[in-house]
Amino acid sequence: MENLRIVLAASEAVPYAKTGGLADVAGALPKALAKLGCDVSLIMPRYSNIKTGTLLFESLAVPFAYKIKTCSVWHEKQDGVSIYFVDIPEYFWRDGLYGHSDDVERFAYFSRAVLELCHRIGEKVDVIHCNDWMTGLLPVYLRTNYASNPFFTTTATILTIHNLAFHGMFGLDAIAYFGLDSHLAYGDMGLEFSNTGSSLKGGILYCDAITTVSRRYAEEIQTHEHGFRLDALLRQRCYSLIGILNGVDIDEWNPATDKHIAANYSVNDLSGKEICKRELLKRFNLPTDLTKPLIGVISRMTDQKGFDLIMKIMNRILETSANFVLLGSGTDSYERYFQALRDSRPDRVGVYFGFNNALAHQIEAGCDIFLMPSSYEPCGLNQMYSLLYGTVPIVRATGGLDDTVENFDRVRMEGNGFKFYDYNAEQLLERIYEALIAYNEPELWRRIITNAMTEDFSWTVSARKYLDVYHIVRQRLGG
Ligand code: ADP
Repeated sequence: MENLRIVLAASEAVPYAKTGGLADVAGALPKALAKLGCDVSLIMPRYSNIKTGTLLFESLAVPFAYKIKTCSVWHEKQDGVSIYFVDIPEYFWRDGLYGHSDDVERFAYFSRAVLELCHRIGEKVDVIHCNDWMTGLLPVYLRTNYASNPFFTTTATILTIHNLAFHGMFGLDAIAYFGLDSHLAYGDMGLEFSNTGSSLKGGILYCDAITTVSRRYAEEIQTHEHGFRLDALLRQRCYSLIGILNGVDIDEWNPATDKHIAANYSVNDLSGKEICKRELLKRFNLPTDLTKPLIGVISRMTDQKGFDLIMKIMNRILETSANFVLLGSGTDSYERYFQALRDSRPDRVGVYFGFNNALAHQIEAGCDIFLMPSSYEPCGLNQMYSLLYGTVPIVRATGGLDDTVENFDRVRMEGNGFKFYDYNAEQLLERIYEALIAYNEPELWRRIITNAMTEDFSWTVSARKYLDVYHIVRQRLGG
């Protein structure tokens, strides 16, 4: 197979700008693709905090808002990836990446600028990889405004949905302002969604393939419950919809090299994990009895993460021998509950409210069990970190949690954790009991840990799957 030329278009990417998981993917995937031999570019806005790169084009003409609106383009090369920054101060030199009243206009402009930039660079692109609503209009521009442009006849697009909840809504009268044909509002291929325009819907309709960040989430978003009213459309496109798990940044999350933890360890020598547990217990002023199981949670404290379930059974957990530590930030009512719990059981419970990356690493390393009973979870990272750190996850079987955690089977000695299906506190408690029984059988527990720690969540695995999708969409276009 020939090497593909891939352009990843994203509104944020590590290390330049980040608000969520999209930035991790946009930062890591291009590097992994480059290692697999692809010619990869990343194109993103040049926010005011971005000072790197050299000026490549002083003026790039982009038809937009009934005129030609120019931007400049900056460039740098990192880890085999060409990175292009679209610079237009009027749109991107602002406080915060999003949350402005003209967000959809800003990213519609960006989407069109990506196409103009590809054209200006002049090397034909095999696949443009779009991400979330911010680049949802890019496939629409490509298949309408640029449909007869020979430069793009063999360019395919894919759209990755990281979060289906955000559409990028706009008034339908803005379609013409964005430089699109106003007939695109209605009909089978119309952008209209509940009387407004939806950038995400545009992307779903016009791209060549859709990916989401786990296999299970790809199924869930086709249901009424999780489909944010796009489920019918996603069902129509189900043959072009595939789930690909995000990878883990192994340079950052690896117990053998982690700089934040008290001692390093690996699947072959877990002695360092005991040291991590002792230090963690001390950190939370808990008795350093290493025989007692330690259960941990690291999370944004929102309804999505299943805190109501944990709260319902917290007292029952404390009736067992297990201790409990929590790192989280978010909703006040949750913080008050866990602070009160800590105050009443200071010998059994430790809490830290706020964001603390080093402590997140220490909890992953020092705990025996990790809870993640989310109501929904497109991919989820913490359960993957837990597996790699030999901290046995107990999760609800949804989205990426379902894809990554396999129930442990005592007969076959297979599986890496415990999961429950209904969003129900009793089911969670049952799984915790089951895990605590296994914890008291050292050989069995060692086996679960071994199964967990030998999972491969490297970006190379994910990048290979994306590469397959790129080849498929490219071949469909006759490339
Ligand atoms: P989500 O993206 O929905 O918050 P994920 O599990 O995908 O959930 O990723 C959460 C990331 O944020 C993980 O890297 C986790 O360690 C980190 N994290 C969450 N809360 C905190 C916190 N209070 N302090 C430090 N890191 C946190």
